[in-house]
Order: sequence, then C-alpha cells, then structure tokens
Amino acid sequence: MPRQAQEQVFDLVVVGGGPGGYPAAIRAAQLGLKTALVEKERPGGVCLNWGCIPTKAMLRSAEVLETARHGAEYGVLADNVRLDYAAVLARKDRVVKSLTDGVAGLLAASGVTVTLGHARLTGPGAVEVVGVGEAPLGPGGPRYNAPPAADGAPVATLEGRNLLLATGSTPALLPIPGIDLPGVVTSDGAFLLEEVPRRIVIIGASAVGAEWATMFQAFGSEVTMVELLPRLLPAEDEDIGKALARSFAKRGIKVETGRTVTGIAPVGDQAPPLRVTVADPDGGNPRQVEADVVLVGVGRRPNTAGLDLERAGVATDPRGWVEVDDRLRTSVPGVHAVGDLTGRLLLAHVASHQGLVAAGVMAGHDERMDYRAVPAATFTHPEVASVGLTEAAARDAGHDVAVGRFPFSALGRAQTFGGAEGLVKVVAERGGGQVLGVHVIGPGASDLIPEGVLAMQLEATLADIAATIHAHPTLGEGTMEAALVALGLPVHLPPSRSPSVAARKRSRPGAVESRAHPAPGAVESGAHPAPGAVESGAHPAPGSATLPLRGAESGAGSVQPAPATSAGPEGPAVDPLAPRFDLTVRADVTRLVGERGGAGLGDLVVAACAGLMAVSPELEAIFGEDRLRVASLGVDQFSAVLEPTDGAVLAVGAAQAEARVVDGKVEVRQVARLTLSIDQGVVDGATGGRFLGRLKAALEQGRP
Ligand SMILES: Cc1cc2nc3c(=O)[nH]c(=O)nc-3n(C[C@H](O)[C@H](O)[C@H](O)COP(=O)(O)OP(=O)(O)OC[C@H]3O[C@@H](n4cnc5c(N)ncnc54)[C@H](O)[C@@H]3O)c2cc1C
Repeated sequence: MPRQAQEQVFDLVVVGGGPGGYPAAIRAAQLGLKTALVEKERPGGVCLNWGCIPTKAMLRSAEVLETARHGAEYGVLADNVRLDYAAVLARKDRVVKSLTDGVAGLLAASGVTVTLGHARLTGPGAVEVVGVGEAPLGPGGPRYNAPPAADGAPVATLEGRNLLLATGSTPALLPIPGIDLPGVVTSDGAFLLEEVPRRIVIIGASAVGAEWATMFQAFGSEVTMVELLPRLLPAEDEDIGKALARSFAKRGIKVETGRTVTGIAPVGDQAPPLRVTVADPDGGNPRQVEADVVLVGVGRRPNTAGLDLERAGVATDPRGWVEVDDRLRTSVPGVHAVGDLTGRLLLAHVASHQGLVAAGVMAGHDERMDYRAVPAATFTHPEVASVGLTEAAARDAGHDVAVGRFPFSALGRAQTFGGAEGLVKVVAERGGGQVLGVHVIGPGASDLIPEGVLAMQLEATLADIAATIHAHPTLGEGTMEAALVALGLPVHLPPSRSPSVAARKRSRPGAVESRAHPAPGAVESGAHPAPGAVESGAHPAPGSATLPLRGAESGAGSVQPAPATSAGPEGPAVDPLAPRFDLTVRADVTRLVGERGGAGLGDLVVAACAGLMAVSPELEAIFGEDRLRVASLGVDQFSAVLEPTDGAVLAVGAAQAEARVVDGKVEVRQVARLTLSIDQGVVDGATGGRFLGRLKAALEQGRP
C-alpha cells in the first residue's frame, strides 16, 4: 500500500539548501516565519559539496605541496616530498562533511523543518516532495542535479504562504563533437577522478577552469588551457589577467587564448587518451593536443529539471533563468527566487545575500538587492580578487578615471611570504577620488578585497583609504599604497613613478597611467605614519560646492620629498584625468598678525607666497604667473566653491585663538588653517606639501 504523504502548512517553504536557500531559511525562522526546507542531496548545495569548499580544500593541499617543495628557500629542508592524492581527496571529504554537518545543525537549531527529497511545484504555494533518482555520474557522484525517483510517489506535501526557489545551476555541456566521450568531465566529474591526470586540457579560463589548472599543475599534470576570449579571467581587469598569464607561464601552464576546442576524439580505439583539436574561432590554425582528461570549466544552466516551474506559472528568461526583481520576487506573487537560479551572478556570496534579503522581504521588511559592490575571488596561485569596475569598464561608463597600481614586490609582508608577485590596482573617479574598483592579484588577495568592498559600499575616496592607518607589515598596506599612488603621493615607490610627473612627461594627454611596475630590488622600508604630516583629502566632484575639512595636523614638518619636475617656462600641462585633492596645515600666525596688525591675513599670505616664489624658481614655475589663486575665506570651517580648472587654490581660514603650551606656560596663540587644493595634473602632492611646509614656516617666522 502506498505510504500516505505528510501534509503540512508553513509561512515559507524553501526549495534547495545551498548558499542561497539555507541562510534564507535560517533568517526567515529568526524573523518568526514557520519555515520548511526541501533538499535533495546534503545541505550546503554545490558550494559546500561540489564547488567552493572542496576545490579550496584541494587547492590548499596544492599550496602545501608547493611550499614543501620550495622549503629550502625558507631554510626548511624536507626530503622526498610527494603527493598522496587519495589523502588529498580524503581530507577534502572531511572538510566538506564538517561544514555540511554544521549547516544541518544550524538549520535544526533554528527550528527549520528539513525534508529530504526532490521538490516539485504543484501550484503557486504548493510543493510535493518525491524520492531522488540516480546520480547522473553514478554512485558517489553529485545528486544535486539528479532527476526525481522513477516511481514518483510523494513523500510529503508542503503548503507555503511564501515559496523560495533556490535550486541553483548545473553544468551545461558545450556543443563540441566528442564532448560526451569518456575522459571528458565537468568540474563535477573532476572530483571523481581517482588519480591525477598526466595530461589535462581545460576548456575555459574563468574562475573554475583557472582554479583546476592551478591545482593540477601543482599536483604534477601537464596543463593546457583553452580560452575563447583574449585573456585569462576575462571578467577581471586587463592588468590582472595579464599578470596571471605571466605567472601561469612561469609555472609551465600552457594557455591558448583567443582559441577554441573544435573537436575531441579518441587517440586509439578507445577513449581516453583523447586528441583535442584547438583552433582559432573560425577554425583556422588547428593544432592537436593529447590529453588523458578534458575538463570543461565553462557553462552552467539553471537547475530546474523536474521542478515543474510552469505548474506554478513562474516566468523564466529565454535561457531558463528565473526572472526576479530587486526584491527577489518572481512573476508569481508569494514566489521568490535566489542564487544561481536567477542567473544574475553565479557566486555563493551573492546567493546568500539574496537569500537574506528575500527572507526579509517575505517577513514584510523593506529590503532590496544592491549589486554595486559585489566582490569576486579566484583561488589561483597567485590569488585574484576584485570589486567594482575594471579600468576599461570605468572608462566605457564615461568616468574620468585615475588609477593607482602598487606592486607586492615593494611590500614588506609580501616579501616575507616569499610570494611577492602581483599588484593592487585602485580605479577611482578623477574629480572626487571616489573609488570605482579595486583589483588585486597576489598573496591573500581574497582576504584583502573586503577593504575595497567596504570602500565602495561607503562611497569612500582615495583619500579615505590613504588616510586609514593600516597595520604594518601587512598585505593590506598595498591597497593604501595604491591609493597614494593614484593621489600622487607614493611613499614606497620611487618619485619618478609619481603619476603627475609621469603624466607631464607624456605628450599624450588623457592617459593617466600611474603605473607602478615592480621596482627591481625595491625593499619595503616601513610604512609608519609621519608625525605632523600634511593632511590630504580628495575633492568632491566638480560642480559639488563643499570641501569638507578633516581634522588638521599641527604642522607641515614631514612632507614627502618632492619628485623632480619637468615643468617648462609655461608651467606644467594639465592632465585632464588626474585627481584633485587638498592638503591642509595649521600655521601659528600670532607673530605675523601682531607685527602687521593692519593688514588682512589673506593679504599677508599672498605676500608670503610671492616671497616664496621670488626665492624659488621651482615654486615660481609651478605656482607663479597667477596659477595659484589665494582666497581668504575668513572662516575656519569653510565651504569653498572651487574652480576645477584652477591648478591650485589656497584657501586661508580666519586666525583663531588657541591655547598652546609654550616653554611650559600656557599661551593663547592665533592659528590659521591653510588648505591647498590642487589639481594633480598640475602640482603633484609632494610639491604641494613642500610648498605648504615652506609657507607655514615663513608665516610663523613673520616673513610675509
Ligand atoms: C567548481 C566550482 C567552484 C566554485 N567556487 C566558488 C567560489 O570559490 N566562490 C563562490 O562564490 N562561488 C563559487 N562557485 C559557485 C557557487 O558554488 C554557486 O554560486 C552557489 O553554490 C550557488 O548557490 P545556490 O544556493 O544558488 O545553488 P546551489 O549551491 O546549487 O544549491 C542548490 C541546492 O538545491 C538543491 N536542489 C536542486 N533542485 C532541487 C529540488 N527539485 N528539490 C530539492 N532540492 C533541490 C540541490 O541539491 C542543491 O543543494 C563555484 C562553483 C563551482 C562549480
């Protein structure tokens, strides 16, 4: 006699327990919704079982192997270092089990009712759960994309006031002759290989393909990658893809970009081994590569087979991805969808964030998805991580772009790691210095990117990053240094690499390269904040009228050494894409005001500037001939309307009484705040700082 299906009613029924579904279920339960979750494999989804986590566990084994092999470089000698691949897989399984058990525990502790089985929709709020059919790749293989059991008898019927669909995605095989031969695997099948292939061809050089390439190369495979687009990691910034290509080439990974696989055939009577034909996209220049395994690392499609979306009336786009709005609502009221299934960005953390937002929305909260600051990480060796716009995308979107690059070879922590390849690249809006994107390749990239994500989330500027104290020695200093490079104030790069100097030397206007190529032999010398440093802050975008003043420092004693300038008699050319920002000092003007009682402070400062120009041809070349505009604002906290076309604007605040301890006695002094607002294309930060330092000294000595 057939078993009677359980029938239950919930506020929310979640279908799929991956990184999209399970956090949504936990959050919904926290928000008071009676929640059920249906999962047909193990909680954690592709990410924990067949994606993010198992690959990272195996990549860690690859990293340990590499480190052990190169131990002698660190003074650590180990003989007979070799791989035990079965142990690598066993460790991977232990990590996966620990995490998936953890998720199951969290769901139970949160009061979520979990039903194991294949869910299919029977209406807008109704789900029928049946048994799960055979795993497509056989016993031990993934079951997240298995069909419903052949008998189809329901084991449970769940009704939900809301439904959340989170069934993820599954590999899509490319239409290549021979793609179904034995020896051709997707990333699912790659986990089932019992030994390391001697030769492997990997189709696709995006994150998944590049990670498997890193891993198998370290394990000893001969790796060939084939990518249709012109570079590795095509979604990343061009500099990053190029840097990774250089690193892969050094490691012996062969990469054919701008090429495609046109056919796969057995070498002999039986596959494998396989003969792979690699050619130009039009079929030209064919070349054959032999391989024991071909790994298809590209192409996913929505995991909706047997879900019966149409019975609930849920709309999909022409490729089958479920369409949602920014509140994750589908075309059917009460039915939401998250994660890979929505085809938006196939990343675990996007799925999770969508899940949390969807849970909030279903609980009646006003929440929406915002995709502006979504990071991505690729766990190659070296690692890659990014957030926001690439330089090319920023330009295409019409931004005036300023760029700062800082090489890890100039960073102490990277040198101590022995992994000094790579760089941090910051892309910012020229006018206000607002961060548009951060791109990292190098050690710890995935752990460095949150700073960039937070910067974008909080709409921070280059100056905000530069003004943030970073612990030393850390890899995070690279982001601060890249921001300093973009501002023209690099501390740990030679002055000749300063962007404004470089910009002046170039005849081509518009190129704002502040390239910081690894300085050969560049050694980090400690990035300690200089006491009494000139304060710097980026400007609001042209047209924005306020210049917020930050807490000022008490002197300009320690400014950066000025880079050599190449200003001609006409003064330097304006680089239209260089950033604009301000430097501030506070000058004790008691003596000056006392001695010249009648004159206004603004006039005295103008006279002091003229005096400085008279004795310094270099300052005259930069600031002379009316290129410096002095504005006496007469207030201390000021809002200035700045002419973005002016090379430099010096704003003079009012002298204000301030108590200071001088020679052990409290004295009341007159202190004025001077802010030099500079266009980076005209005056580099170091020269601006030096000018302010001299001006302050002149004013304090009463020399207008
Ligand atoms: C090799 C690889 C490496 C990756 N590495 C990373 C990485 O490092 N970082 C990153 O952010 N992303 C990574 N990803 C992507 C990441 O795994 C996915 O973006 C993420 O798993 C999507 O989460 P999801 O919840 O939408 O779907 P999934 O994780 O696919 O979960 C869907 C769940 O729904 C269940 N299910 C499906 N249909 C039904 C049904 N009818 N009834 C009941 N249950 C059902 C499945 O069993 C599954 O558990 C990687 C992917 C791969 C393949």
